[in-house]
Amino acid sequence: MSENKGVIQLFKHKTESVKRNHPWIFSGAIHTNTEDLNDGQVVTVTDNKGNFLARGHFQHATIAVRVLTFSDQPIDQEFFNKKILNAVELRRKMDLFSLDNNICRLIHGEGDSLPGLIIDYYNGAAVIQCHSYGMYDSITLISEALKNALGNSLKAIYSKSSDTLPGRTETEDGYLYGEVETPFIAQEHGINLSIDWIKGQKTGFFVDQRENRKLLGKYAHAKKVLNTFCYSGGFSLTALQNGATLVHSLDSSKKAIELTETNVALNQFDGQHGSIVADAMDYMKELNEDYDIIVLDPPAFAKHRDKRHKAIQGYKRLNAHAIRQIKPGGIIFTFSCSQVVDKYLFNNTIIAAAIEAGRNVKILEQLHQPADHPINAFHPEGEYLKGLVIQVD
Ligand code: SAH
Repeated sequence: MSENKGVIQLFKHKTESVKRNHPWIFSGAIHTNTEDLNDGQVVTVTDNKGNFLARGHFQHATIAVRVLTFSDQPIDQEFFNKKILNAVELRRKMDLFSLDNNICRLIHGEGDSLPGLIIDYYNGAAVIQCHSYGMYDSITLISEALKNALGNSLKAIYSKSSDTLPGRTETEDGYLYGEVETPFIAQEHGINLSIDWIKGQKTGFFVDQRENRKLLGKYAHAKKVLNTFCYSGGFSLTALQNGATLVHSLDSSKKAIELTETNVALNQFDGQHGSIVADAMDYMKELNEDYDIIVLDPPAFAKHRDKRHKAIQGYKRLNAHAIRQIKPGGIIFTFSCSQVVDKYLFNNTIIAAAIEAGRNVKILEQLHQPADHPINAFHPEGEYLKGLVIQVD
């Protein structure tokens, strides 16, 4: 790790947000010439008089500093030990390390006061994804902290940042500690899941829908379900576990459908399941089946603010197709994971879709990301997943 030699001074009138503990410092707030600083370096941030404000990871980017601490302390092994132990203890409180349920997000970036770091946990295997060079350069400290916090229950640590830090040629994925065979089996609410972080998307599984999948289980008994954008079939599996008569899983990726089928077979749910490789929008345009429940969980339609308008049109169209065609009394679980579309805008979009479809809709439940994806109160940008359960009359 680079030595903490860099000191960055902010402009006089640009200290408000850091004083309010917001963990991002934008390049426009910085008075000091930063040309000589290295990506990933730990820097100290001061006001224009040299008073300490924060310490964090520097990067030549719009978000120039991701703040690790607002107190004058070193960023060393002890720092990471404390932060990671706190996060593990929080997940213990949430009962996320049981035999039945041992998949969780261990570190959720800013939400766990470690901006730029994501760690997902699968029954003893930790998969690290770094979103900043500073975190990538701290990976040995992070690994040691994980061993320290998890003890004997930790079987392996896998580092996977080549997708998230594509600019860095030296970023290599691989095991940092132990090794387990992939696909690896872990459990969510009593369902067996085959997870492959090496070949799969992100860290191998969409951990953030755990509680929403469980909720679907309550509605699924004796129902015919369509799960669109299914990836590895999480929603399909809870529906089947709870007695759905038939579940169709749809994804445009053949690989995703193969993962879903593996998971369906692993839980011996084969009899009530069918899969469809198709574009969800095309399929939804003209449904040839009567479904009681439809799940719509698309990938982020907008990653940036300038794409928001187009994203809204996409959500509206997709939801209008589902609302128009679902059985009377049917239930739709609809989601958006676009951070730039907030819950109010999303709710309004669904209402607009109902108006377009010309049917009465009741909002039954308002959904969000689970507790192991905490939102730092000083960083509202951390809220990204939102959803609704609606009934169409
Ligand atoms: N609901 C899933 C996670 C969805 S991730 C779960 O609970 O695990 C989004 C998925 O949408 C990915 O698997 C991706 O392959 C799929 N996808 C992206 N664009 C699509 C499209 N146009 N039609 C259908 N599937 C699509």
